[in-house]
Amino acid sequence: MTGVFEDPETWRRERRALALAGLTVGFVPTMGALHEGHLSLVRRSRSENDRTLVSIFVNPTQFDDQADLARYPRVLDVDLAALRTERIDYVLLPRADDLYRDGFRYRVTERDFSTALEGAHRPGHFDGVLTVVMKLLQIAQPDRAYFGEKDWQQLSLVRGMVDAFFLPVTIVGCPTVRDQDGLALSSRNSTLRPADRQRAPRFHEVLSSAPTPGEAARELNASGFEVDYVEERDGRRLGAVRIGGVRLIDNLPMEGTR
Ligand code: AMP
Repeated sequence: MTGVFEDPETWRRERRALALAGLTVGFVPTMGALHEGHLSLVRRSRSENDRTLVSIFVNPTQFDDQADLARYPRVLDVDLAALRTERIDYVLLPRADDLYRDGFRYRVTERDFSTALEGAHRPGHFDGVLTVVMKLLQIAQPDRAYFGEKDWQQLSLVRGMVDAFFLPVTIVGCPTVRDQDGLALSSRNSTLRPADRQRAPRFHEVLSSAPTPGEAARELNASGFEVDYVEERDGRRLGAVRIGGVRLIDNLPMEGTR
């Protein structure tokens, strides 16, 4: 690994040197506790850019639930080892005080889609997401930035923000990586109790097999999930459930539903 940066300014000096050398930079923003889903983004970036930068930052402003923030897994040493194995060039580990030197007085708000689905159940979530992505893109100055379809609404809102603010970056969406049993990989999966982990694949199974969103919600309830929503939008079926206090989200194209 060439460099681990905490200070945004130090990275930006490196970034200028890369630009002068004519090298492209791919960027993968994460909150850490890296799994194969994250690593699929990292590998895609490596294959499409001369250098790849990965950031790890558990962004407090996107958590509407403080217990969820406190419980969020933090395994920095394991993550850095995984990124070394992937031969990643650069890691950015920003400090909250640096990123939010304004005290979150300035923020990016989308006023329509961000209030639906996840936004309807997690007030302020997408203000936090869009604001931190804006800050990270300004710092990283990548040619391309990689986001997972697992967080489909997030991907869509980030694309919209990049378009609305003429940000000079290409957003690359990457397919959802799943465990063999169908459960979408998520850092939160490691916080599931064993019995809940066993039942969790039923979420994807029902989402992809129920004839209607209403029927999916009923079947999920019957299987012991608390359902936040199952909705269809723009050719996708999206859902969020809670099991044993852990929140899971997933989505799939409607051709994928039987
Ligand atoms: P997070 O660390 O949860 O903020 O995720 C960082 C990036 O990895 C986001 O763009 C996510 O959409 C993406 N990601 C998370 N889980 C998966 C997965 N199972 N498959 C593909 N991408 C994922």
